[in-house]
Amino acid sequence: MKLKKKTHVVILGAGISGLTVSYFLNQHKISNTIIEKDKVAGGLLKSFKIKDFVFDNFIHISHAKNSVVKNFFKKSSSYFKLKPKPNNLYKDTWIDHSPQFHLYPLKLGEKIKIIYSFLTRKKNKGYRIKNYENWLKGAYGDYFAKNFPMKYTEKYWATKSRNLSTSWIKFRMQEISFWDLLKGSFVKIFRDTYYSSDMKYPKSGGYESFLKLLKKNKNIIFNSKLNFIDHTKKKIYLGKKIIKYTNLVSTIPLPEFSNLSKEKNKKLKFHANKLRCTAGIIISIGLNVDINTRTWFYIYNKDFKASRIYAPKKLSKNNCPKGKSSLQAEIFLDNKKKVDDKYLKFVKNNTVDNLIKYKIIKKENIEFIDIKFKKYANVIFDKNYDTSRDFIINYFKKLNVDFVGRFGSWAYLWSDQCFMSGKATAQKILRENFNK
Ligand SMILES: Cc1cc2nc3c(=O)[nH]c(=O)nc-3n(C[C@H](O)[C@H](O)[C@H](O)COP(=O)(O)OP(=O)(O)OC[C@H]3O[C@@H](n4cnc5c(N)ncnc54)[C@H](O)[C@@H]3O)c2cc1C
Repeated sequence: MKLKKKTHVVILGAGISGLTVSYFLNQHKISNTIIEKDKVAGGLLKSFKIKDFVFDNFIHISHAKNSVVKNFFKKSSSYFKLKPKPNNLYKDTWIDHSPQFHLYPLKLGEKIKIIYSFLTRKKNKGYRIKNYENWLKGAYGDYFAKNFPMKYTEKYWATKSRNLSTSWIKFRMQEISFWDLLKGSFVKIFRDTYYSSDMKYPKSGGYESFLKLLKKNKNIIFNSKLNFIDHTKKKIYLGKKIIKYTNLVSTIPLPEFSNLSKEKNKKLKFHANKLRCTAGIIISIGLNVDINTRTWFYIYNKDFKASRIYAPKKLSKNNCPKGKSSLQAEIFLDNKKKVDDKYLKFVKNNTVDNLIKYKIIKKENIEFIDIKFKKYANVIFDKNYDTSRDFIINYFKKLNVDFVGRFGSWAYLWSDQCFMSGKATAQKILRENFNK
């Protein structure tokens, strides 16, 4: 096979998506450069260390099913196989996950309300498909929907359920039959309903260790500041540098990519502005004692700002020094909301106060508290999502841009899916640029 022309691929972003594209292009000796704004590679999968405690940016577990990714991760790091059993904090009661199957600990009055509203729920398909709120009410009845998933949605998706579409639900929410609801309400049983069964986590170094092979990449320009992109001339303006390309791959957030275009297009700007995403605040707490919690737990209470809290030690014992433990709380908000130091301090205090209130930690055992803000966490699937995303992607497709990864393609992709989308894009570029 021979290269058709002088190919040079520019890849924006050195997270797992960009690194994967580059890795497979390098295997075929296709010239490529990664442009990364940070001083290190890894993106959201970059783990971090405080003293001898290891944390990830939000809880990360590999749910990979595809053998290509599984083998690649395996070559990068040895791992532990996990069988987590998360639970839920509802008011001041602990309930196994998924809560609809384990309502046993609730008071009788509340169980009756849930069962009654389940039996009188609107099951009509046309009603349910309209939005996530209807879907939830149709699946579980009004009472459970309002008190559990709808409350959680406001915390995790930073919007009301009625603003979300239903396209993203797929396997993520478990429906329940009347008998299972009844059984779980009156018999203390456990039913494993978590949607993933094959879960892995690196033995040491945090989730980032799965990127070990990908990070051996010499093509990255770090600390880059992208000024704009001239799609007609296929030139990238980077500080005082100009980089020419034949193919462009973007893994950076789609709205930001759209705004970098030299060609100004009002519709493009309009749609870029419509795309919504959550930002995440992560509060990592080191403890000088070993505490016992589940691998993670979900929180429904409105006055406890964190949506979910995980225990790094439950993923790998090497995430904490011996005899110590840690927790990391995740708080989500609309990423267009301004976040200042006062707000960060408020959520930090709210997290610690509630952890103490629910007797999960003691104040005197806190060794450190670290707080980080991540501007991009979860793409929000609201009513504008499909139209605006499709407009932008189709606009740039005509200019031969490929979009890869969670924020590049603006979709709900896990790390293994980012890897696979990176590999597929490298293969597409190979096909386009080689003459047989
Ligand atoms: C709360 C949460 C929990 C998750 N849990 C899991 C899980 O359990 N398992 C799992 O597999 N996945 C999980 N994920 C998903 C996983 O984190 C992502 O799929 C993956 O990290 C996305 O990688 P990426 O390379 O597409 O994006 P990123 O990691 O964001 O990489 C993009 C890169 O582009 C760079 N960049 C951005 N803007 C610019 C610019 N203007 N110029 C140059 N560079 C730029 C960034 O610095 C970054 O390095 C979770 C995500 C979240 C938010």
